[in-house]
Amino acid sequence: MDQEQILGLITPMMAAVFMAVFLVMWKRGNMGHYVLAFAGAYFFFGLGFLATHLIPDTGAAYVFPLTQLLYSLGCVCAVWGAANRAGEAISLPVMGYIYGVSAVTLLVAIAVSDQADPRLYIVNTGYGVMFALGTMALLQANRRSAIDILVIVLFAASATQFLVRPVLTLLIAGGSGASDYRESMYYSVLSVAITIQSLMTAVTLVGACAWDQVIAERERAMRDMLTGLRARRAFEQDALATIERAKQEGVSVSLIVADIDHFKSVNDVYGHQAGDQGIAAFGSLIAGMIRNSDVAGRIGGEEFCILAWNCDGSQAEAMAERIRRRLGDTPVTGLPSDVRLTASFGVAERLENEGYGKMFARADAELYRAKEAGRDRVCAARLQGTVTTLATPEAKRETAARSAAQ
Ligand code: GH3
Ligand code: MG
Ligand code: MG
Repeated sequence: MDQEQILGLITPMMAAVFMAVFLVMWKRGNMGHYVLAFAGAYFFFGLGFLATHLIPDTGAAYVFPLTQLLYSLGCVCAVWGAANRAGEAISLPVMGYIYGVSAVTLLVAIAVSDQADPRLYIVNTGYGVMFALGTMALLQANRRSAIDILVIVLFAASATQFLVRPVLTLLIAGGSGASDYRESMYYSVLSVAITIQSLMTAVTLVGACAWDQVIAERERAMRDMLTGLRARRAFEQDALATIERAKQEGVSVSLIVADIDHFKSVNDVYGHQAGDQGIAAFGSLIAGMIRNSDVAGRIGGEEFCILAWNCDGSQAEAMAERIRRRLGDTPVTGLPSDVRLTASFGVAERLENEGYGKMFARADAELYRAKEAGRDRVCAARLQGTVTTLATPEAKRETAARSAAQ
């Protein structure tokens, strides 16, 4: 083993370290498959580099096809991983097709010429096209944090490097035969360029994965485990921010507070686990019935809150009524099939200059009135004074009777 070969081992060793880092992150951090794909990318890049360096007969016909296969697998893993991380799909058949075309072209080139130049054009074009597709997928995704932009820049640089560098280097350094290729100027430039490029990309991808982990942890802390809705503190933070935006944009927002009725007896009669199932069912029902712009959270044991964006009091009241009815139709695991949960709702539209605290107090007062009035109903604060909306049919009859009596 000569000095150059020992030096050449550094790159595969670095690739092995990065592969190990990605593997640990994936396994220990319980992260998405894209992290595993990054580990795969560095496995194949390392193996490809090792093959180029350690195979004694560089002129052998199989060297290019072998390293092309390994590097192509590395490119596919890297591109698929980065796209998957950004929520975009990369077509593996398309990637396979790119590899297939460049592999066949390479075999033809090997058969007709013993020059390295055409082989280099062919294999690098294949890698370049793969990275170009990856860059396009990343640009399509709407992830634009600083680290995402850095990944896009590095992928674009890789695509450019693979597509443009062979032409430039060969123009400057001239061509070489396949066997003296390793001694060529081209090969030295290539080695340094690829090492620096993959080192920068690897560090950035590790950073991106670590950042994803931080965000996921933060998200987890903000989420209520049982329902997947926001936990109380996160709900209040988001509600404050949403109300601030509503003030600035002059958009109406309303707050709905809901509390499951007689929940203590649900626990007592059917058990705490059945109670949990009920809370989870109500939570997912709410999640499925609000818009993306609304904010929903579990703010207590069986209490929920929705801040409805661009929604006046009567629209919010109708929304609460829809949720109330849906709950009445929703079976809950662990409860007898003919038993349904009910909930009471209080609704308040934000008044001018009102903040979250006052708005919540008014909605909560309405919830209290709904409980007092017999539960399983919606009560809404009206802008002028407070009028009870009794939403159940019996309650509506009660209201009608009361108005008739006045
Ligand atoms: P009301 O109609 O007046 O709301 O009656 P309630 O029985 O629902 O009254 P209250 O709000 O005082 O009781 C809430 C109960 O919810 C008390 C507590 O045991 C139960 N609870 C709170 N958190 C959880 C939880 O995470 N899981 C389960 N299973 N029960 C919970
Ligand atoms: Mg309750
Ligand atoms: Mg309660």
